[in-house]
Amino acid sequence: MSDDIAAATPESGASASKAPAVIAREVQRRRTFGIISHPDAGKTTLTEKLLLFSGAIQMAGTVKARKSGRHATSDWMEIEKQRGISVASSVMQFEFRDHVINLLDTPGHQDFSEDTYRVLTAVDSALMVIDAAKGVEAQTIKLLDVCRMRNTPIVTFMNKLDRETRDPLELLDELESVLKIQCAPVTWPIGMGKNFRGVYHLLRDEIMLFRAGEEKADGAFEIVKGIDNPRLAEMFPLEIEQLKTEVELVHGASHPFDLEQFLAGVQTPVFFGSAINNFGVREILSALVDWAPAPRPRNATVRDVAPEEQPFTGFVFKIQANMDPAHRDRIAFLRVCSGRFERGMKVKHLRLGREIKVSSVVTFMASSREQVEEAYAGDIIGLPNHGNMQIGDSFSEGEMLVFTGIPYFAPDFFRSVRIRNPLKIKQLHKGLQQLGEEGAVQVFKPVQGSDIILGAVGVLQFEVVASRLMNEYGVDAVFEGTSISSARWVSGDDKRVLADFEAALGHNVAYDAAGNLAYLATSNVNLRLTQERWPKLTFHATREHA
Ligand code: GDP
Repeated sequence: MSDDIAAATPESGASASKAPAVIAREVQRRRTFGIISHPDAGKTTLTEKLLLFSGAIQMAGTVKARKSGRHATSDWMEIEKQRGISVASSVMQFEFRDHVINLLDTPGHQDFSEDTYRVLTAVDSALMVIDAAKGVEAQTIKLLDVCRMRNTPIVTFMNKLDRETRDPLELLDELESVLKIQCAPVTWPIGMGKNFRGVYHLLRDEIMLFRAGEEKADGAFEIVKGIDNPRLAEMFPLEIEQLKTEVELVHGASHPFDLEQFLAGVQTPVFFGSAINNFGVREILSALVDWAPAPRPRNATVRDVAPEEQPFTGFVFKIQANMDPAHRDRIAFLRVCSGRFERGMKVKHLRLGREIKVSSVVTFMASSREQVEEAYAGDIIGLPNHGNMQIGDSFSEGEMLVFTGIPYFAPDFFRSVRIRNPLKIKQLHKGLQQLGEEGAVQVFKPVQGSDIILGAVGVLQFEVVASRLMNEYGVDAVFEGTSISSARWVSGDDKRVLADFEAALGHNVAYDAAGNLAYLATSNVNLRLTQERWPKLTFHATREHA
């Protein structure tokens, strides 16, 4: 597309001033990835080292320091003021080798919530951190399932090789069988724990020597070229023989790295290292820059949107609530899908059909000095949200489209809601309706009875909701345990069957805040039996944003 044509398009608006070539170049140099792991695998440590190596931070400890603080309670002003790495470190932007990297955290521990899952709908690739002593753990499995919904390419980092770990071949086997993903080892460890000597780079035929505690920011570890190099045999006579045997095994038994397969989400390149010792971190950054995809086209109603298109578009994938009563504002996290965003620009909120001027936008440079005034596809911006934005909301310069593929997940935790003051029942319903629509929690109203059931994927969500009901709606709600243990959305072609289903199981059939039919099961057995008894109905563990 030439400049002239672009300028002549009516909806090109503010972005007409940017040549398409500029946008295309900015898109090509962007990498947006999520970092996923089970708690304690070393995600925070690795994040910090990635920032350290890119030069975004000068000192280790910055990310760690904020991890201990409960960022859900930090207030908007504070976020505005610090705007750098302290912005909950949920999004961090930094540069490496002339690439702009957006790193999105997937909060775990007590912060685990649906947002954790939805973050993965806003990334183009993911970095999976595994504790090599433990192997694949529960939270990793869940998060990987979400990555698979969009065939997101995954880079794997096997961490903590400075400890006694499990056998590396066994780890790859487990990855393949449990996560159902092909493994292509790129580096291979030489020893482990006290005898960890380094890694062999299978593609480059180089050995990178390990020295514990090398906190050098440039991560320059000594490299010895060639597995047959006589120097190695002199240095580690025993280990090198074993390495040669293992490398032969690996070449025979595992898949060679294949970029296409990686990009299709079928294969993951695997790196071994030790985040705390800076070892293997540079290789991860290089893999992200060299192999991970730049922003890709996104599906929307009407058509697909290419990242290089001139007009700005984007969607909200996460809303961070504020628990401080003095500052009720929340931030809506928006992923830019195309064009160029500029501070102060007018964009159209498509669900409300209203134009809004975005002047106070939060950006996430890891080194807080820079003030970013513009954003391109792949970048994340934080918009102040006074209650008018919901998960899945799309924004454009005017074109009517809705980005699809932003899922809701069947909750794992349930509470029934009671209020202390019955006169507040209206406010309770209003509050829950809005919080449900916003995506803070899932609200189910059973067809029979007056109960309201809340569902969440992490228990912190209940705390947030209780606090927001109190602060924003003046409702003092009490949450109690229920007999519900899982939920599934239900669909079927035959309206009569659906009506029979509702009538027969009224107490356990409910509607969610968006009006979708769901079944609330009391146990796995109960769910299975119900599915068997109603073969004409389909039970879904996820649903897309309506
Ligand atoms: P997260 O919960 O995944 O963010 O994990 P952290 O980064 O907080 O790490 C959990 C623990 O593992 C901390 O005590 C880290 O110091 C430790 N750790 C992280 N990386 C390594 C490593 O390479 N080797 C060893 N021995 N410990 C590590």
